[in-house]
Amino acid sequence: MTAVVLSIGSNLGDRLAHLQSVVDGLGDAVRAVSPVYETDAWGGVEQGPFLNAVVLADDPVLDCRGWLDRGQELERAAERVREVHWGPRTLDVDIVTCHDGADEVRSSDETLTLPHPLAHQRAFVLIPWLATDPAASLTVAGTRRPIAELLDGIDASERAGVRATDLVLTI
Ligand code: ADP
Ligand code: MG
Repeated sequence: MTAVVLSIGSNLGDRLAHLQSVVDGLGDAVRAVSPVYETDAWGGVEQGPFLNAVVLADDPVLDCRGWLDRGQELERAAERVREVHWGPRTLDVDIVTCHDGADEVRSSDETLTLPHPLAHQRAFVLIPWLATDPAASLTVAGTRRPIAELLDGIDASERAGVRATDLVLTI
């Protein structure tokens, strides 16, 4: 059995519906869903704020690569309503961690890097994840670290940029 932590985000179109499409698409595999947060987009491209959430899911047969494929299928499905061809995204599904049984799978393959190489630096991943699984940990540079500790290491201004919302995803 594999268990994943997925980080999902949308900043185009019906953002909440795009996040909900992941929960609906994964169906019975979903174990828990975080609250929904709003985060300003980073980088140079002028674009609207993201809604972000974390989904915990497991499956008796899928392997980690299979989860990447499922996530990309859901991204493609959401792009059917996409109006522009570049820039903001209707749906991004990233695999933060994938456990195979008790083992946290590690991979340096560029098509599937595990754990996600930037997750430990991203408040918009750690804040929803911590809200959903306060005891979670993540391997960073070979060391297993509680995510609460990783979040403490992120700039306060960046943490404050991840804003709670009243929006809810339903399992
Ligand atoms: P990003 O999420 O970095 O903004 P994309 O969603 O366009 O960018 O993903 C680019 C590529 O990242 C995908 O084609 C995928 O193969 C690869 N990738 C590598 N590791 C992961 C991971 N842990 N989760 C999701 N995609 C990943
Ligand atoms: Mg992605």
